[in-house]
Amino acid sequence: MANASGEPTERLRAGVACAAGRRSPRTTAYDGDLSPETIAQFGAASTPLSPSRVDRYVTCGFKFYARTVLDFEEPEAAPLELDALESGRLVHNVFARFIRSLQSEPGEPVAVGTDQSYHTAMYEAGIAEIERPYVQAHDTAFHDGWLQRLFAGLDPAGTNEYDGPAGYEGLLVRALRSLTDETSRFTARPAYVEADVGVEADGPVDEPVATTGRDDDPVTLLTEEPVDLVPDAPFRFRGKVDRVDVVPDTSPTQITAIDYKTGSHPNVTDIREGTSFQLPLYLRLLEEALGPGFDPIGAAYYTLKLPTEAGVSASPFTSRLHTAHYRSSGQPLRRNGVSSLFDYHRDPAAEPFAELDSGNGEEETDLDTDERFYDFLHETLDDRLTTITNAMTEGVYHPTLLEADDAKCDYCAYADVCDVRHHQRVDRADDHGLETAYVPDAVRPSTGAGDDRR
Ligand code: SF4
Repeated sequence: MANASGEPTERLRAGVACAAGRRSPRTTAYDGDLSPETIAQFGAASTPLSPSRVDRYVTCGFKFYARTVLDFEEPEAAPLELDALESGRLVHNVFARFIRSLQSEPGEPVAVGTDQSYHTAMYEAGIAEIERPYVQAHDTAFHDGWLQRLFAGLDPAGTNEYDGPAGYEGLLVRALRSLTDETSRFTARPAYVEADVGVEADGPVDEPVATTGRDDDPVTLLTEEPVDLVPDAPFRFRGKVDRVDVVPDTSPTQITAIDYKTGSHPNVTDIREGTSFQLPLYLRLLEEALGPGFDPIGAAYYTLKLPTEAGVSASPFTSRLHTAHYRSSGQPLRRNGVSSLFDYHRDPAAEPFAELDSGNGEEETDLDTDERFYDFLHETLDDRLTTITNAMTEGVYHPTLLEADDAKCDYCAYADVCDVRHHQRVDRADDHGLETAYVPDAVRPSTGAGDDRR
């Protein structure tokens, strides 16, 4: 485009500059590289960070900028049945209702069995939840089939209105069996559900279980105030943990964090390499909120997929010693998997990589992995969070440095505007260097550390 005198217009100049900037492997002002003054104008720059926000940022700064800072909402589909978010919400709330129904107060450890009273409690928890408006809004011809995938196989004291053909089992009865299995195998017991640290309350809250925060779902309030996790970090932190298990008769009380996932979830390699923060951040939030009487010893994902999958992930985030404590038999939950998490040193240049022997001839003691776990949970996490929060306030919001699959670019609502060039990924990671940007260990190009840690 040109004006009447044949001069390029301002918009044309800007477009060419943008295209040239994005074509370059250098990070330019067109790649989410903002000034601290610009980013300070947005409320998100001072809003407490949740684990999911941290994970969004480390996965893709540009997506974080569009979604969280600029508040550009992703287009919403309007499916006839519950979408993935609503299904997840429903399952979370049914589990929370079920555990609460077995307690006299939040924090009381719960043992789960298979006699009919547990079937009844699970069924009633499910019925109470499906009567809420967000579920009733989907009362279509297919709705009963969906509910059957949830309720089939439960054997409550009354009639199961959504039972299926003989032998057909929905998610809730499978979850009940899984919880019973955990009660027999593990020492940890469910104690707090939907445990909220730094809840966004509209007003004063004086009950331990309250319907505050998003969507009026009940939460167990651990503390209303967000917490400071990292000295001098420009952000405070908040979050909600799906389930907190405690190990009875331990002092300080050992706790584990459980996160329910209805889809795929990260693994311990993602945690180790700095592309997933959710589980370690949950433990740090709980440590701050519950105080010195509690000792965070591990965290795990718990898979819940309609109608067939319910159970703890085989890849817990914990030390070998603590995992052994986690299982009542005294054996690690998953011996080989456990040694995969802390079988590295943080600085391979200073300390040679050491592989733990997962067989009988262990070269390192359980105490080593225990210390590494705490070292990771505090020192490594603090270092990373300091870099991340400083990068956020400095205005570093570049497109992902991860591979397209890992960043889920194919499913990203902002793919049309970020103009990511994955073939320049390595050059960009080099360009950012280690000064202001957060570059996950998984993509650090120069040190070779990422290779050593695999
Ligand atoms: S498509 Fe990929 S790089 Fe682009 S905004 Fe989405 S996640 Fe980031």
